Amino acid sequence: DEPPEEQESPGTFESDMKLTDAQTAIIEEEIAAEQNGVATRKAHADLSKRWPGGVVPYTISSGSSGDTAVIQSAIAHWESLTCLKFPPYNAAAGHTARINFIKDSGCWSWVGRQGDGSQDISIGWGCEMGTIAHEIGHAIGFWHEQSRPDRDNYVT
Ligand SMILES: [Zn+2]
Repeated sequence: DEPPEEQESPGTFESDMKLTDAQTAIIEEEIAAEQNGVATRKAHADLSKRWPGGVVPYTISSGSSGDTAVIQSAIAHWESLTCLKFPPYNAAAGHTARINFIKDSGCWSWVGRQGDGSQDISIGWGCEMGTIAHEIGHAIGFWHEQSRPDRDNYVT
């Protein structure tokens, strides 16, 4: 495939996160809370958005099959530094939810586990291992470090 002229990801928050309506509402509440001096957190506070047992099954769509090696290196990065496991999706093993790597415009992800089905995570053209690891971070429930509520306590 030829790369598109732009790597824009329309419909994303802070350039690469797809949000549900409920998450958008939470962000608006958190912004209001922070303006009132109430600290929120970096990881998703909604426990339903976590991956049970730290197991994050994955599939790679045919469109992303050419990126298999770099995707697997990003997965290995997370597995080497955390207790998370990323097995290939296998319904017979009881897997339900999974992240599905696709080749869409740009790199983006949903934030946290979205339910019992398949949720897309886009690896666009020319995405490096670090970018893919970043998007996996969103899929496991992390917001942007540079947007932490306590950022201004540490950055001048
Ligand atoms: Zn991001």
